[in-house]
Amino acid sequence: MSQAIRSVTTQTWNIMEVCGGQTHSIVKYGIDQLLPDQVNLIHGPGCPVCVTPLESIDKALAIAAQPGVIFCSFGDMLRVPGSDGDLLALKAGGADIRMVYSPMDALKLAQQQVQQQVVFFGVGFETTAPTTAMAAYQARQMKIQNFSLLICHVRVPPIIKALLESPDNQVHGFLTAGHVCSVMGYHEYPELSQQFRIPMVVTGFEPIDILQGIYCCIRQLESGRHTIENQYRRVVTEQGNIPAQQLLHKVFETVDRNWRGIGHIAQSGLALRADFADWNAEQRFQVQAITRPEPEACRSGEILLGVLKPRQCPAFGTACTPEHPLGATMVSSEGACAAYYRYRRTSA
Ligand code: SF4
Repeated sequence: MSQAIRSVTTQTWNIMEVCGGQTHSIVKYGIDQLLPDQVNLIHGPGCPVCVTPLESIDKALAIAAQPGVIFCSFGDMLRVPGSDGDLLALKAGGADIRMVYSPMDALKLAQQQVQQQVVFFGVGFETTAPTTAMAAYQARQMKIQNFSLLICHVRVPPIIKALLESPDNQVHGFLTAGHVCSVMGYHEYPELSQQFRIPMVVTGFEPIDILQGIYCCIRQLESGRHTIENQYRRVVTEQGNIPAQQLLHKVFETVDRNWRGIGHIAQSGLALRADFADWNAEQRFQVQAITRPEPEACRSGEILLGVLKPRQCPAFGTACTPEHPLGATMVSSEGACAAYYRYRRTSA
């Protein structure tokens, strides 16, 4: 497949893989090193941990520090630095913070620990949002009053649009994230592809998927076409998982959201609808007013926008390592900085 890519490439093309899982595969398997020099892969903002804003981490810390609270989170979020420490440090100091694999585990815990307030930290893209929605829905159905959710889910199409509208945009084609499309389908993308005259290829995660996605993208670029193609047909359909989308719609509304290092993006987030206000942890624990500016030392915003490669950050591998991360892109297993630290610390 890398040979096929070489055979169709005649000029320089910048292709962005949106998903952090794809970034990890690319760096781990050296997929970028198999490509002709004219093909430049830009690592996009598709790592959910990396884009969760500082203010949400600080809200999580403020809630988790309260007595009588059991704070539940996916493991990756425990080490993401807030303004003053992380959840793991708070746990070491005695707070009841637990790692769960699903929001439904947190809901079960609330049923068992009726004297405690159990809070679930809902982060991630449209891939993880349906299970969070199910936990909120079930909590309301079963009238579980000691359960609430701190929601920071984000949506992929608005960030792609924001990137394309940016005056600094250098991207010629997108590999869109296969797992998000398995839930949401890809019916939102043809309009973007046409509006910005840019190829988009729904792409999976195996090295051969990624190479094939790149090939499809370059073939379009070289022939002056711009449309949406589905490389990941074995998983993704155009309409996606309709029951999951209906559940998302029932529980969440789209809202403006801050992205870590990137800033405010209109209609890029999900928030609990008013019918679910009783299960909204921000309201229950009065943390809505917390806002925080991002620290200047971390260049993760530029990394997430594809303007900078991790090794170009002055702190990479020195002041910032996975043991002592300055930013979320070094913490998460899907973060570009963590992937480069693990697989590319010494090579290009
Ligand atoms: S290496 Fe560390 S400080 Fe630099 S951008 Fe990545 S996370 Fe931020």
